[in-house]
Amino acid sequence: MRWIKAFAVLMGLMTAVPAFAEDPPPAKILFGSETTPTASKPQSYGFYNKGCIGGAEALPIDGPTWQAMRLSRNRRFGHPDTIALIEKLSRDAAQYDGWPGLLVGDISQPRGGPMLSGHASHQVGLDADIWLTPMPNRTLSLREREDISAVSMLKNDGTLFVDKTKFTPAHERLLMRAASYPEVQRIFVHPGIKKAMCEDWKGDRTNLAKLRPYYGHYYHFHIRLFCRPGSPGCTAQNAVDMKDDGCGANLAWWLSDEPWRPAKPAPPPKEPAKPKPKPTRPSYTILSDLPKACAAVLDAAAPANLPAAALTPKIPLPPLAPWPEIGPVPTPRPAG
Ligand SMILES: [Zn+2]
Repeated sequence: MRWIKAFAVLMGLMTAVPAFAEDPPPAKILFGSETTPTASKPQSYGFYNKGCIGGAEALPIDGPTWQAMRLSRNRRFGHPDTIALIEKLSRDAAQYDGWPGLLVGDISQPRGGPMLSGHASHQVGLDADIWLTPMPNRTLSLREREDISAVSMLKNDGTLFVDKTKFTPAHERLLMRAASYPEVQRIFVHPGIKKAMCEDWKGDRTNLAKLRPYYGHYYHFHIRLFCRPGSPGCTAQNAVDMKDDGCGANLAWWLSDEPWRPAKPAPPPKEPAKPKPKPTRPSYTILSDLPKACAAVLDAAAPANLPAAALTPKIPLPPLAPWPEIGPVPTPRPAG
């Protein structure tokens, strides 16, 4: 009897609050389920953390000096300039910097946009994560590309400082090579990596300014390109002050306690809380929060002939555990 009552109350509540079923879907589900880029010409729309891209190109999963990782995420897509820059960095680093090749992490989804997991940025095809682990001298299997972990550059994995047995001069040359390209606006690295670069880098220090300390970024670094020509809808980020190498006050702040303190809890309300008005929109990002063009990007056709590089390979499942031992089998085996 009690259950019947509870059920009736529940049903009553459900009819009283009908809005949820009509809420628009999260934009990350719409963009996260796109498997192909659009056929349009390459254009980024919006800002690095609120936008999308049409006409994205895929980084081939293998090149002479790179291998793409975590292929199941399908985030190998970017503006063609981003893809070209990754390939160029991989060649230059192998030729000049003693870095055998790049392991490339996330770029963007086929049509950019918000992702189901991980990054806030990487939405307009102009951000790319490069592992701080050099490419091995063999082709990794698809399965290994899912499973292999990158190596932390930090001392004991948890301090603010790099372990110089892991963070080597070749890492430093790779970072400065990436920073040297005019297409690159910023490179995000852990503050400990920035500190090591400030102390150790003996070459031209102009581009040190592009290395920006940020949380995370000790397994990988993150390259961000300027908005590209031909993308009038791309919103630029504020400029980096190239006259400040960032090794002074800014680095000192990152190495202080302040950025690492947990946020203060809100003070308790003085008056009893008023009932909150019913939200008029969902709390998550929806399509209409993105630039208008992103709705058209979602609807646009894929290229009639998808380039081979854009096809996502089927990732084999992990090998099944071996069958349990069934005990000694007599030979010859009895029939039946
Ligand atoms: Zn990133």
